[in-house]
Amino acid sequence: MEFDKVLKISRYLDPFQEFSETKRYSEVRQDPLTGHTTRILDFPIREIGRTDVSAVVENSKQFCPFCPEVVERVTPKFHPDLLSKERFSRGDALCVPNAFPYDENGAVCVMSREHYLPLREFTSEILKDALSCCFDYLGDVVVKQPDMVYQSVNWNYMPLAGGSIIHPHLQVTASSSSTNYYSDMLPALEKYQGEHGTDFWTDLCAEEQRLGQRFIDDTGRIAWLVAFAPMGIFDILGIIHQGRTPGDLYGETLDDLVRGVLHVLYYIDSLNLASLNMSLYFYLGESAFTPHVRICPRVSLPPFDTSQINYMKMLHNETLTTMKPEDICNGIKVIWDV
Ligand SMILES: [Zn+2]
Repeated sequence: MEFDKVLKISRYLDPFQEFSETKRYSEVRQDPLTGHTTRILDFPIREIGRTDVSAVVENSKQFCPFCPEVVERVTPKFHPDLLSKERFSRGDALCVPNAFPYDENGAVCVMSREHYLPLREFTSEILKDALSCCFDYLGDVVVKQPDMVYQSVNWNYMPLAGGSIIHPHLQVTASSSSTNYYSDMLPALEKYQGEHGTDFWTDLCAEEQRLGQRFIDDTGRIAWLVAFAPMGIFDILGIIHQGRTPGDLYGETLDDLVRGVLHVLYYIDSLNLASLNMSLYFYLGESAFTPHVRICPRVSLPPFDTSQINYMKMLHNETLTTMKPEDICNGIKVIWDV
């Protein structure tokens, strides 16, 4: 397996050093599966201060469809032609149709009775109930709609990450249409299997464990890595060894998943960041596709709250980051091992 990177050196005459020559370094890294490239810039990382979200949290309480006083009244119910239940619930988690779906089957899972939770206040009970509730829904979708094979559980936490409602909720989709992520990945997985005669994910976990630079943990049920060529400022990857469908994950695999996700949330919080995107991907009936989760934090850049998504990501589909995956791995391991 290749972890290809090209070192780039940019030279200019620096006005702050009497116009003498200055060099800037960056790396172009290639994802070992898809070949997608990511640029890692060697800029000094400015300390990110914790953002005060109290005003936006307070304002958003004026009307919140997911708060317990109104959620039963103002959220939709599933259509009896499609699902066996009107709503799905586990503990405090409640899964209802998304009133503004992206697909034929879109749901939201309200994760807690609390209107707002800082990342450090999520618990294993909250995550376990919420994910189980999503899996109950996804398992039920395919009973009457067996072609809904592209299934995912997704999270936009806080407005910076695309969340339009503050109240913690997951977005769940079951579709007959792939996203670009699946369309890029599947031919690459088949090509790898054809060329090597082995499974990419198994080889990736073994190789990352051998190298030790981006390997966090392997419980035997889930391996946790920092992605070599991240899709965000950093990208924590959990590869699920056992289970192909959401329903296969209940029990010990879900316990491991929840523990891992919590570690990632606490690590993101320790960096003074409060926003993230997460996707947990399944592709039912496709043996080449191993379910996995990716979590990327989101940031804005001071002093103007500049979006991290600029033309590179929007129009060149290229990630930029100043955080080296190997440094992230060293940092997250400290939290993981506590
Ligand atoms: Zn609320």
